[in-house]
Amino acid sequence: MTIVVTAATGQLGRLVIDELLERVPATEIAAVVRDPVKAAGLADKNVELRIADYDDVEALENAFHVGDVVLLISGTEPGRRTAQHKNVLTAAIAAGASRIAYTSVIGGLGATFALASEQHKPTELALLQSGLPYTILRNGWYTENYTDQIATQLEHGLTGAAGAGQVGSATRRDFAAAAAVVLSTEGHENAIYELSGDSAWTFTEYAAELSRQSGTAVSYRNVSVNDLADILAQAGLPREQAEVFADIDAAIERGEFRGGSGDLSRLIGRATTPLSATLADALASLKVNQY
Ligand code: NDP
Repeated sequence: MTIVVTAATGQLGRLVIDELLERVPATEIAAVVRDPVKAAGLADKNVELRIADYDDVEALENAFHVGDVVLLISGTEPGRRTAQHKNVLTAAIAAGASRIAYTSVIGGLGATFALASEQHKPTELALLQSGLPYTILRNGWYTENYTDQIATQLEHGLTGAAGAGQVGSATRRDFAAAAAVVLSTEGHENAIYELSGDSAWTFTEYAAELSRQSGTAVSYRNVSVNDLADILAQAGLPREQAEVFADIDAAIERGEFRGGSGDLSRLIGRATTPLSATLADALASLKVNQY
């Protein structure tokens, strides 16, 4: 049996490969990538490279083999992702894969925000109807979605439309470890996991923690969902994407990103990484990059 990770050149995919290498020999891992040049680091780790784009069913069929356990990491191209995910599913079935794990979003079929409707719900339904054993990883929000923005936050503060809604975030590394566990161990067939950090925070609490650690006063400004979409569009995001992101804040306010199932820490066998630690890392790398 080989464990095959798609989107392995992405930030999550690379971490999943690293987590797998801690659990199984490199000879049992394959990486599906669309650009082998970007995957040189993976080849150096003796992970087999298989080349395929999510748009190319034939290449995908060749990338999967009988008995493979496949991790489908959701794509990045708005409007195209559901078709691309279905291509992966079709190819994995045709090739005789034994199980597919999929990185969905917290809330899954019950989620009410646009990002879930656009790609994750149709993919989950296709997976459920495919007859192939599945594992659905309903990932909550990466803490890095916010901590990657600390330079801007230190200068301008935080702006959002989530009110006092809480985000039960965890790091990519935490979610990657969960993926590696369900791929490399038994007992996850036809299981659905709601993955989130052990504790949740509000944007006001985030601003307070960033202020405390940095020594710079950072405040949180709450605006309407429409105003947030305008701000994001003015900052350069395509209008449709700006609306999808602003809609996430509305979902955060409704509590859809709070999490609290405990599935993530149970799967990885340790506490999830707290916001304070991820902020400290982000501040440290900001300082390194400044000098
Ligand atoms: P990245 O943007 O770092 O990586 C995306 C990966 O998808 C890359 O490896 C990219 O390949 C690959 N990819 C995109 N389109 C195709 C395609 N047509 N064919 C083959 N591969 C493709 O994202 P992350 O690793 O950070 O996150 C993984 C996924 O999680 C995202 O793609 C997105 O669906 C979702 N996500 C989740 C968030 C969360 O907070 N839970 C936040 C943001 C995204 P290449 O390297 O060649 O470009």
